[in-house]
Amino acid sequence: MLDIGFDIGGTTVKAGALKNGRVVKKAVYPTPFGDPDALIALIRSAAGELCAGEPVAALGVTVPGSVSKDGGIIDAWNIGVRDLPLKTLLMGEVAAERYIVRNDADAAAVAELHAGALKGVKTGLMLTLGTGVGGSLILNGELFTGGLGRGTEPGHAMLDRGGIKCGCGHSGCIETLCSATALKRLAEAACQKGSGMIYLKHAEGAKVDAKLAIECALAGDETALDVFSEYTDALSDAIASFVNVIDPEVIVIGGGVSGAGGFLLDILREKVPPRTFFGSCGRIAAANAGNDAGLIGAVM
Ligand SMILES: [Zn+2]
Repeated sequence: MLDIGFDIGGTTVKAGALKNGRVVKKAVYPTPFGDPDALIALIRSAAGELCAGEPVAALGVTVPGSVSKDGGIIDAWNIGVRDLPLKTLLMGEVAAERYIVRNDADAAAVAELHAGALKGVKTGLMLTLGTGVGGSLILNGELFTGGLGRGTEPGHAMLDRGGIKCGCGHSGCIETLCSATALKRLAEAACQKGSGMIYLKHAEGAKVDAKLAIECALAGDETALDVFSEYTDALSDAIASFVNVIDPEVIVIGGGVSGAGGFLLDILREKVPPRTFFGSCGRIAAANAGNDAGLIGAVM
């Protein structure tokens, strides 16, 4: 028996055949934007190729958007799909024992739970710091999918009342201050002052983004360290609020900003505890389920 997983992103669809939670075969396709029929046709043909006649235990799909309790896509704007009963449609297209449709942040947390930093953890928080801020909660050793089955959106908890407008339509969400996009915005502002390493690298042709801010901060540049300090102040406030709500054993940081590695984690380990009600918090760790996390988290 095989599991077949799909990780649908804004530009590519990663597909894989898995045996006992390990990817044994992989393929990548361009994402058919705004075309649900083409998306389903792609899943059908790729699943057929990947299983090569072997029976399928679980067919799992990770989508970058909100997913209903019955596995339908509510809204996945960056693949141009909304109100699509994906799980029901797949049942008629691919023969499998189980069908799973999951939000991408939730899939990342499930992958960490099975093969990464949340293994064996009963209460955990995962934040994925990318273009936006994805987040998931592990309660009683399982992914918490919300009281009404709509999932959880920690990235859209409010951090700054009346603050920057968020993609979700509200203002001052955690996402507006803690995403890689937020770090990029701070780096751009620093660059405009016309001094410091970010400015110099930019003058040499480097793109000003979160990665450059991290690179310059790691090199010890003072302007970049100030940028990173402002960013980690906001992130630490956000994490401390979640600590006060669920008191997690482990807090896992994933996504592009987690590329800063131990440099970021050490700052958070210093800044978060004094901001919590308790004066201390659980372990802060980096995501480590690897590049196949989206596929693993789709089928587990
Ligand atoms: Zn928001």
